Amino acid sequence: MPELPEVETVRRGLAPVLEGNAFARVVTHRADLRFPFPHEFARRLKGARVLRLERRAKYLIAHLSTGEALLMHLGMTGRFHVQRAGERQAHQLGEYQYETAAEAKHMHAVFETEDGAVVSYSDPRRFGYMLLVPETELGHHPLMRDLGVEPLSADLDATYLAQRAQGRKTDLKAFLMDQRIIAGLGNIYVTEALFRAGLKPSRPAASLAGRGGKPTEHAARLAGAIKAVLLAAITAGGSTLRDYRQADGTSGGFQNTFQVYGREGEPCVRRGCRGKVRRSVQGGRSSFFCPSCQR
Ligand code: ZN
Repeated sequence: MPELPEVETVRRGLAPVLEGNAFARVVTHRADLRFPFPHEFARRLKGARVLRLERRAKYLIAHLSTGEALLMHLGMTGRFHVQRAGERQAHQLGEYQYETAAEAKHMHAVFETEDGAVVSYSDPRRFGYMLLVPETELGHHPLMRDLGVEPLSADLDATYLAQRAQGRKTDLKAFLMDQRIIAGLGNIYVTEALFRAGLKPSRPAASLAGRGGKPTEHAARLAGAIKAVLLAAITAGGSTLRDYRQADGTSGGFQNTFQVYGREGEPCVRRGCRGKVRRSVQGGRSSFFCPSCQR
């Protein structure tokens, strides 16, 4: 499943193609993904200009000149394929070819822009979805209203973590996975951030707050580790775990740099640590950690 860095990578791939551009034609090849496409989807998008392509948690949001926002979620296997005008000189106007027939079958929505770019969306497992939401309702939309802070924004710091963790009965892993606290953090990056911070996934979340709710040194380390691990992943172009691919079809490389995720039984990579990575299952998801240096 694409996590925040992958979605951000997709956003960065799509933004130069879509921002400032209007949709000349939109075609859907089936009635639904996870949910039905919005009523009159193609008609409502035709002529709409993309003012800005934003990411909120794992959602992509295209703010449109029509007063609506196109809200997109990639689900488990959603991908965008981009073909710029200059790249289709071999094809007839208005026509383009897919890599393989098998891929064409999975192109569920195709967006053509005024300047001739073609952005196609494929999603073999169809857990992704697209919605059109009036801009004025975006803030209190059920998918948006309960989202916590953006982990890469200044809102996430040691003070915030301590405030939210104070008095909580849950462990750090569950605390960090809670989308109402931090939006868009998933299993992989929570696991990696805890390793970098030297904190064990099963440690009580409340230990981030000291006397009077003041942030502990752990909270400061954790806030820094979350940002560092996400930024490293975005820089590496997102991971390609399972079916995931970058917006332009090339592969991200971050999964090669995971320090604990998926490394059960391997020696800990931290300098001077002689521990071995262990796997445990928490809330149905695998946690990987080093029992020696994560406390
Ligand atoms: Zn270790």
